[in-house]
Amino acid sequence: MTPPTTTACYLCTEILTDGDSEIQVFCSVCKRRSHARCARSSSGWPVDVSSTPFVWTCDDCKSCSRSSLQINNDHFRAIMDQFAILSNSMATCNNRIEDLSATLSAQSLTLASCLEDISSLHSENRELRGEITALEDKLNNQFHLSSEEVVIESSERIKREKNVLIMGIPENTASEDLGYAKNLLLHIAPDSAEQIVSGIRLGKIIELNKPRPFRLTFSSSEVALEVLRNKSNITRNTHPSITIKSDMTPNQLQHLKNLREELELRSQVENNLTINT
Ligand SMILES: [Zn+2]
Ligand SMILES: [Zn+2]
Repeated sequence: MTPPTTTACYLCTEILTDGDSEIQVFCSVCKRRSHARCARSSSGWPVDVSSTPFVWTCDDCKSCSRSSLQINNDHFRAIMDQFAILSNSMATCNNRIEDLSATLSAQSLTLASCLEDISSLHSENRELRGEITALEDKLNNQFHLSSEEVVIESSERIKREKNVLIMGIPENTASEDLGYAKNLLLHIAPDSAEQIVSGIRLGKIIELNKPRPFRLTFSSSEVALEVLRNKSNITRNTHPSITIKSDMTPNQLQHLKNLREELELRSQVENNLTINT
């Protein structure tokens, strides 16, 4: 841009003309003209036109550029403030994410322990089912008698109520076995010897030194009961190898066996249970 040929000095307002002996300078921004002697550098000294490159800016343009710099600074500060707010928000988000992550891992642990509990409950349930099935089988076996069998069982029991079994009488002739038994009864219930109806050995000899049971049948069940009640009168000193038992049916023996097994199981929790035979 070519500056106008005639104008006033921007600072002293004297007219400037081309070819004037005075040195003139131009503002690098607005291109206004001024005497070199009127113009001032930013430090307040007269401008040095011999410096290369020579650049001068008038006071108006300088202040204008300062204010635009000020505006830029203000914008920059506002942006930095926004950035600080965003940075705080991000830090808050990070903290929240860490909290959530900790909660999640705690819940994972709880879930794992729940799954473990469920699995142990499952196996416990399986074991209990097995035990229930076993108990059901046992009950079915205990009550498997038909009505016909019940009648036979009852009459068999009534018949056997007149009997007692004596274990441990040395094997001998039939009359000597009976004599031995009568002698025993004198220690137990003296009158019962007169009530004996019969006496026989049961089963076959398996071992010579292991005598078979000797069964005594009395005239009534009351006599047999009296003998059983007083069986403890045979002291260990006089007849150490003798035992006296009631004559039970196979079903009664099985029932007794079941009761003993149940007692065995229950005695682990309860201490004062016994079976009276
Ligand atoms: Zn001037
Ligand atoms: Zn200017």
